[in-house]
Amino acid sequence: MTQGLIDTHCHLYLEEFDSDREEAIIRAKESGIEALLLPNVDTETIDRMLDLADQHPDFAFPMMGLHPTSVDGDYAKNLAKTESAWAKRSYCGVGEIGIDLYWDKSWLKEQKIVFEEQLRWSIDKGLPVAIHTRDAFPEVFDSIHKVGANKLTGVFHSFSGNEEELEEIKKMPGFLIGINGVITFKNSRLSEVIIQTSIDHILLETDAPYLAPVPYRGKRNEPLYLWKTADKIASVYGITLEEVIKKTQKNALNLFRNIN
Ligand SMILES: [Zn+2]
Repeated sequence: MTQGLIDTHCHLYLEEFDSDREEAIIRAKESGIEALLLPNVDTETIDRMLDLADQHPDFAFPMMGLHPTSVDGDYAKNLAKTESAWAKRSYCGVGEIGIDLYWDKSWLKEQKIVFEEQLRWSIDKGLPVAIHTRDAFPEVFDSIHKVGANKLTGVFHSFSGNEEELEEIKKMPGFLIGINGVITFKNSRLSEVIIQTSIDHILLETDAPYLAPVPYRGKRNEPLYLWKTADKIASVYGITLEEVIKKTQKNALNLFRNIN
């Protein structure tokens, strides 16, 4: 892989890109983006995600997992379906998984069961996890320690925690934080928080089609806009864009070892 940015978290397979998915890929490639990592959402998204990955085998790398906001009374059936997708091909990680208490607190018990089961998959398969946490840091930390923090590696995707939460993550050497367009938002404190850790702990991501960086805030996000977040990271750490590219690519390849 030549030197370039890696979008470690995007959902380019969603219908928001049905009209211009290939163009979005061309825009990303021409700008110097080297790879896209595709976390799954639920049992409905698996086929379209794998289609996209199959069409771009050296550029788009899928993960497999069941997202916490897709956990409900049917969780056992959906988790079994997700598990059976592992037999279809190879993946670069287990994701996206986690706990989300922002949208709905009523499935907390089930979300924990599903999250912990997928953490165990990651240990069994020797693959990193992409963790989604919303209003749920204590619960997520609890599950990670229960399953075995020292046996796990992964990323706290779309990290938006405070200093204390960052300190908890830093105690787990296998974990990085994923930074996206939120850091460019005017009201975000994220720059002050992440300066408490080294660039060696940072992965770049878009979370497209969500969370577009300034000046596209509120519009559909796409991998090309990763450069806005990279620029912001350069200014936060006072380093050049070239260094941001080099360091974050190294971090991504170290964590997601089978995308090379
Ligand atoms: Zn996501």
